[in-house]
Amino acid sequence: MRLIRQISVLLSFIGILFFISVAAQAATLVLTSQDQNYLLSGINFIEDKERSLSLDDIRSLKGEWRINENETFNKGYNTSAWWLNFTIDNQNSNSDWLLEISYAVLDYVDVFIVDRNGQVSKSIMGDKLPFNARPIVHRYFTVPMTIPQSESVTVYIRVVSSSSVQVPITVWNKRAFNAADIGHTAIQGLYYGGLIIIAIYNLLIYFALRERTYLYYVSYVLSMVVFMASLNGWAFQFLWPYSVDWNDMVILLSLDLVVLFGLLFTHRFLAFNPSSRPLWVFAKTIVIICVALFFVFMVIPYSIGIRIIIIYAVFGCFWALVAGVIAWRQGRQSAGIYVAAWSWLLIGGVVLALNKFHVFPRNIYTDYAAQIGSLIEVLLLSFAMAERISKEKTLRFAAQKEALLIQKQANEELEERVAARTIELQDANKKLQTLSDTDQLTGLKNRRYLNQYIDKEIARGARYKHGVAVLLIDIDHFKSVNDTYGHLVGDECLQEVAKRISGQMRWPTDLVARYGGEEFCMVLPVTGLEGAVTVAERVCEKVHACVVNAGDIELETSVSVGVYAAVPTSADQGNEFLTFADEALYQAKENGRNRVESKGSV
Ligand code: GH3
Ligand code: MG
Ligand code: MG
Repeated sequence: MRLIRQISVLLSFIGILFFISVAAQAATLVLTSQDQNYLLSGINFIEDKERSLSLDDIRSLKGEWRINENETFNKGYNTSAWWLNFTIDNQNSNSDWLLEISYAVLDYVDVFIVDRNGQVSKSIMGDKLPFNARPIVHRYFTVPMTIPQSESVTVYIRVVSSSSVQVPITVWNKRAFNAADIGHTAIQGLYYGGLIIIAIYNLLIYFALRERTYLYYVSYVLSMVVFMASLNGWAFQFLWPYSVDWNDMVILLSLDLVVLFGLLFTHRFLAFNPSSRPLWVFAKTIVIICVALFFVFMVIPYSIGIRIIIIYAVFGCFWALVAGVIAWRQGRQSAGIYVAAWSWLLIGGVVLALNKFHVFPRNIYTDYAAQIGSLIEVLLLSFAMAERISKEKTLRFAAQKEALLIQKQANEELEERVAARTIELQDANKKLQTLSDTDQLTGLKNRRYLNQYIDKEIARGARYKHGVAVLLIDIDHFKSVNDTYGHLVGDECLQEVAKRISGQMRWPTDLVARYGGEEFCMVLPVTGLEGAVTVAERVCEKVHACVVNAGDIELETSVSVGVYAAVPTSADQGNEFLTFADEALYQAKENGRNRVESKGSV
């Protein structure tokens, strides 16, 4: 807001500078100082409703002249020809003067300069004639005048226009005119340059974000550029100097586009959400009417079109303001700056419109009001959009952060679940492994595991050159237990014998496994024949020591053990060891059972 205040102060200051350099004068203009420029007021005029009078007719109508009371000659919209008359009396040494009519859209402007000798020089201008037909190539109508010192000329001007008839006349020292014109051109350059840069900047933002609000805004700003440039004669001078009819139409079309894109931008920027359906229909309808008017303006006369579009533009600007206030009250972000922006344009637009309808006098403020208003408006809207970008960015960051957090949580959860599943799987695998290695009846390791274990220990023995002992243990006369007491008793007996055998193991590396049926096998790594026989005898004793209780039955049980111990010479001797142990077992059975027989070399 501080910035806006500073801009307003600066603009007012520029305005005052212009104002003090222009002094109002009477119908006979006396050029006293060569440095001054003279804004003509109090001019004599005649209205020629039929547009039929010639210069000679006019010169003969001495008593019909009326005096224009206002500062600037301004007759609003009409179809008459207007004749203006004044005298210029040059009282200083400069003889190069220039007559400027600074309203670019007049249709026909004929200037007649009658010198002391009655010589008439005529200049025909107007925006209904090609631009280059003018005596001086300038966006306003300018006529050079040579008035020697102490001489005077009489000027007659005939104006016909379908636009508002405004004839602001200034008499300039030619050099001063050129100097001032550079200043005006620079200000105009700043204005158009500023708008075009804002448009390009926002167009780039549109390409980056693909958000339609920016496209509407850019279209709005560019339409404003074309409209202002047409109104002030710049477009006619530089863009289409020969397209006379187009120059008129483009004012209507570009102002229509200003209103159209202004409305579209408004509705979108404010995310306009009318509380009632009639309001919604209204908002849509004014946009549609605007589109329809665009085509209407291509066919109807300029004089009617300009009245319609100016009223519509003022109305559209009011509506934008009302919509802004509604959105503001609904708590929309950035609506405050938006309302401030449109207020500026509205002030400028209203001043321009009232000027056109002859309510306000023409002066530097009313002339530049729309440009000043529109520039401040466009700047403020750009601020509003920037604020919106920053808010959107903040929201996007917050959303991204939240998404990342959610993703992180999901990942962590997933990792936890994977870890839990892995442990479960490992447990299950362990169980499976144990199951596949274990004999169900006795809980000892089974034959499959035994084979792997023997191979492993034989390989190790072969490598480190130490003895390995294998004991085969077979229950004596077990068949008769089964036959006498049945399989269940036999099973219980087997379980008890298994317990007694595994109770004799001393080292963690010793292994007892069920070899098959009622046969067991013991593997004793790093053990010689003597040690193995000792273990075997202990087993024999322990099994035989006391009766086995199977159900209600007491059984006397014994085992025979075949021992083989040797230092293996190669890793594949597992079967060999078992075979020798089996031979020893056979021997033990042969020799009376409940005993140990051994074979071996260590
Ligand atoms: P010996 O070894 O002293 O020469 O006589 P034996 O009666 O033990 O001889 P054999 O090896 O021929 O008999 C083994 C018997 O063991 C045969 C079968 O009925 C019994 N048997 C083998 N496996 C099982 C088992 O899992 N449960 C039960 N209850 N009996 C089994
Ligand atoms: Mg057997
Ligand atoms: Mg047996």
